[in-house]
Amino acid sequence: METFESVIFNCPECNQTIEVHLNPNGSVSGPYYEGSVPKVLAESLLGNVVYCPNCGDRFTVMIDTHAYTVPLFLRKA
Ligand SMILES: [Zn+2]
Repeated sequence: METFESVIFNCPECNQTIEVHLNPNGSVSGPYYEGSVPKVLAESLLGNVVYCPNCGDRFTVMIDTHAYTVPLFLRKA
Protein backbone atom coordinates (compact mmCIF):
# COMPACT_ATOMS: atom_id res chain seq x y z
CA MET A 1 0.00 0.00 0.00
CA GLU A 2 1.34 3.40 -0.93
CA THR A 3 1.55 6.03 1.73
CA PHE A 4 1.80 9.73 1.15
CA GLU A 5 3.05 12.40 3.41
CA SER A 6 1.07 15.55 3.26
CA VAL A 7 1.04 18.99 4.75
CA ILE A 8 -2.08 21.06 5.20
CA PHE A 9 -1.88 24.79 4.66
CA ASN A 10 -4.49 27.47 5.09
CA CYS A 11 -4.74 29.91 2.22
CA PRO A 12 -3.82 33.36 3.59
CA GLU A 13 -6.24 34.98 1.15
CA CYS A 14 -9.42 32.95 1.46
CA ASN A 15 -8.65 30.55 4.32
CA GLN A 16 -9.26 27.53 2.08
CA THR A 17 -7.56 24.36 3.31
CA ILE A 18 -4.88 23.26 0.87
CA GLU A 19 -3.39 19.79 1.22
CA VAL A 20 0.03 19.39 -0.36
CA HIS A 21 1.11 15.82 -1.05
CA LEU A 22 4.72 14.85 -1.01
CA ASN A 23 6.33 11.93 -2.70
CA PRO A 24 5.76 8.60 -1.04
CA ASN A 25 8.95 7.57 0.66
CA GLY A 26 7.98 4.60 2.78
CA SER A 27 7.57 6.36 6.08
CA VAL A 28 3.98 6.72 7.16
CA SER A 29 3.15 10.13 8.46
CA GLY A 30 0.88 13.07 8.23
CA PRO A 31 -1.05 14.95 7.51
CA TYR A 32 0.89 17.67 9.20
CA TYR A 33 -0.43 21.15 9.71
CA GLU A 34 1.52 24.16 8.54
CA GLY A 35 2.42 25.22 12.07
CA SER A 36 4.13 21.96 13.01
CA VAL A 37 5.90 20.33 10.10
CA PRO A 38 8.85 17.99 10.67
CA LYS A 39 12.06 19.64 9.61
CA VAL A 40 12.89 17.17 6.86
CA LEU A 41 9.52 17.74 5.26
CA ALA A 42 9.72 21.48 5.73
CA GLU A 43 13.07 21.59 3.99
CA SER A 44 11.76 19.63 1.05
CA LEU A 45 8.81 22.02 0.75
CA LEU A 46 10.62 25.34 1.16
CA GLY A 47 10.34 27.51 -1.91
CA ASN A 48 7.66 25.33 -3.48
CA VAL A 49 4.76 27.12 -5.06
CA VAL A 50 1.34 26.16 -3.71
CA TYR A 51 -1.78 26.86 -5.70
CA CYS A 52 -5.07 27.61 -4.00
CA PRO A 53 -7.91 26.00 -5.97
CA ASN A 54 -10.46 28.26 -4.33
CA CYS A 55 -9.17 31.78 -4.98
CA GLY A 56 -6.60 30.91 -7.65
CA ASP A 57 -3.68 32.60 -5.92
CA ARG A 58 -0.24 31.10 -5.72
CA PHE A 59 1.98 31.15 -2.66
CA THR A 60 5.55 30.24 -1.91
CA VAL A 61 6.23 28.00 1.08
CA MET A 62 8.24 29.91 3.69
CA ILE A 63 9.35 29.32 7.25
CA ASP A 64 7.32 31.44 9.64
CA THR A 65 10.01 33.27 11.54
CA HIS A 66 7.30 34.91 13.66
CA ALA A 67 5.81 31.61 14.75
CA TYR A 68 4.28 31.63 18.19
CA THR A 69 6.20 28.52 19.22
CA VAL A 70 9.75 27.59 18.30
CA PRO A 71 11.81 24.55 19.26
CA LEU A 72 14.44 25.21 21.92
CA PHE A 73 17.02 22.91 23.40
CA LEU A 74 19.90 22.98 25.83
CA ARG A 75 23.36 22.69 24.40
CA LYS A 76 26.26 22.04 26.70
CA ALA A 77 27.94 25.36 27.51
ZN1 LIG B 1 -7.26 30.90 -1.54
